[in-house]
Amino acid sequence: LLMAYEPAKRLSRMRVSLESAFVGVQMMFEILDRPDSMADPADAVALPHGQGEVALRNVGFTYDGKRPILSDLTLVFAPGRTTALVGPSGGGKSTIMSLLLRLYDPTEGHVEIDGTDLRRITRRSLQQMTAFVGQNTFLFSSTVRENIRMGRLDASDADVERAARSAQAHDFIMALPSGYDTPVGENGIFLSGGQRQRLSLARAILKDAPILLLDEATSALDNDSEALVRDAIAEATRGRTTIIIAHRLSTVMGADDIAFIEGGRLIEQGPLRELLERPGKFAALFNKEVSGKAPAGAEAEAVVEE
Ligand code: ADP
Ligand code: MG
Repeated sequence: LLMAYEPAKRLSRMRVSLESAFVGVQMMFEILDRPDSMADPADAVALPHGQGEVALRNVGFTYDGKRPILSDLTLVFAPGRTTALVGPSGGGKSTIMSLLLRLYDPTEGHVEIDGTDLRRITRRSLQQMTAFVGQNTFLFSSTVRENIRMGRLDASDADVERAARSAQAHDFIMALPSGYDTPVGENGIFLSGGQRQRLSLARAILKDAPILLLDEATSALDNDSEALVRDAIAEATRGRTTIIIAHRLSTVMGADDIAFIEGGRLIEQGPLRELLERPGKFAALFNKEVSGKAPAGAEAEAVVEE
């Protein structure tokens, strides 16, 4: 009886306060297998190891069946490259990410990976192909080590540590009272926003999925954290198809491509340099941010989304 009781007790200790059900679901997706609430169709395929090209094709989407949120949106994310999604708040960036995670299916058109409609890919293989790092890092009431291992449950301690080093997290972890064995989460020690993000990136690096989805934190990080998080992101995105909702100018500048989204439509897309060289919404926003903020040499803290 006691043995059956123990896991239940542990589970009940893993309670977290969720801002909303949606945020909760997003946070769980970051680390756990997705629920099988939507069953796979009989002809669903496990994805072959392709290049990791992600595309939205003529996608229309509405949450309530009335108000269109995305309209005839075609957007291709090149394999292995990092694309920053920028544009005004409410334009549909987070919705795009929700469709890529298959929290919702599009109302029109389709979303595909390497040419296969997400609706035809088994949930399991979609889950294995994507890693998501959101604004809120979900921490279990467990050790730092076990929290990172959530990225890949069969990872060795050496793998966990290697991922933590890549995510610029090893040094702060070693400075904690019990290093990797330090308890975090509800009953553990407090971690700063930058530290939590780097743990989340360590999980994603450990998972080693070909497609990485990032919703960059909007909250201010101190200067040290900002630089470390930027390095961690650079490491995590190497060799993966990365889509990042960018709030910082420094992130935009580190991306290969920019997609400017407004009113549920793609306004312009291309390499950073190309978009800067032609007059357009992105160039206008960029120039305003650069001239209006941070003196030369200072770290850009600009908020790209407004
Ligand atoms: P962005 O990330 O660019 O700020 P969002 O994708 O979050 O834009 O939002 C696009 C539009 O969809 C907004 O008008 C927002 O109010 C609406 N929206 C976002 N999430 C939901 C939801 N879960 N239910 C209903 N409407 C939503
Ligand atoms: Mg958003």
